[in-house]
Amino acid sequence: NANRKFHNEDLVVDIGGVKIGGGNFQIIAGPCSVESREQVCYIAECVKKSGAGLLRGGAFKPRTSPYAFQGLKGEGIELLEEAKAKTGLPIVSEIMNISHLPMFESVDVIQVGARNMQNFDLLRELGTIDKPILLKRGLANTIEEWLMSAEYIMAGGNENVILCERGIRTFETKTRNTLDLSAIPVLKKLTHLPVIVDPSHALGHSNMVKPMAMAATAAGADGLMIEVHNDPARALCDGAQSLTPEAFDDVAKAVFQIRPFACKY
Ligand code: PEP
Ligand code: MN
Repeated sequence: NANRKFHNEDLVVDIGGVKIGGGNFQIIAGPCSVESREQVCYIAECVKKSGAGLLRGGAFKPRTSPYAFQGLKGEGIELLEEAKAKTGLPIVSEIMNISHLPMFESVDVIQVGARNMQNFDLLRELGTIDKPILLKRGLANTIEEWLMSAEYIMAGGNENVILCERGIRTFETKTRNTLDLSAIPVLKKLTHLPVIVDPSHALGHSNMVKPMAMAATAAGADGLMIEVHNDPARALCDGAQSLTPEAFDDVAKAVFQIRPFACKY
């Protein structure tokens, strides 16, 4: 289970040699949505050069409006596979429905998005496979509820769960969500699972990503998830919070500089 009491050592999730947790730090980067072969391959090359360890791209998108771009679906996964073949970066993508699982064969880490954090049937099914699961915190869920969702996955035998803080709903409107950086020390006390932070969805504005990426690193996060787009103004999803490859390079440099001084638990 997820309880620290039963685990002396921090969990190290090993994704084909790319490790997260137990002192291993990774940046997961990529576009909110996979839009085309050129787009995802270009972004993958750029983020790899800047030091990202994994490529993330959305193929199935949980959009608030049914009229918004819903993702390239199976074709999006195929394009991620091409980017992986070109760069060697393992890939991360979000699943919305367990019936899509066969399409995720080539996906190295399966993401459960904030909106599905308490989709218990989905969590149970993901507990029966042997791929790492990146579990994002729900829009308005407590840390206890989030850990219980991790338990749903782990109870089925899949122990490789990575927690991702992505901001929660508060009364504040200047940011898309309110980044709960205090979740890092709280989770470090309660669980052995790796904890990563997504400042992109938390802040919602590209110019606010850097300070929070640096702060999350200093606070001892095991990794970051950051949205990067070749042309944010024309992105089909989440352009306002997406960094250009150049801006991402600057953030990655700052983060890698801070990392040796990060809080240890
Ligand atoms: C995403 O990662 O693109 C996403 C939809 O995030 P969240 O589930 O945290 O809103
Ligand atoms: Mn997004």
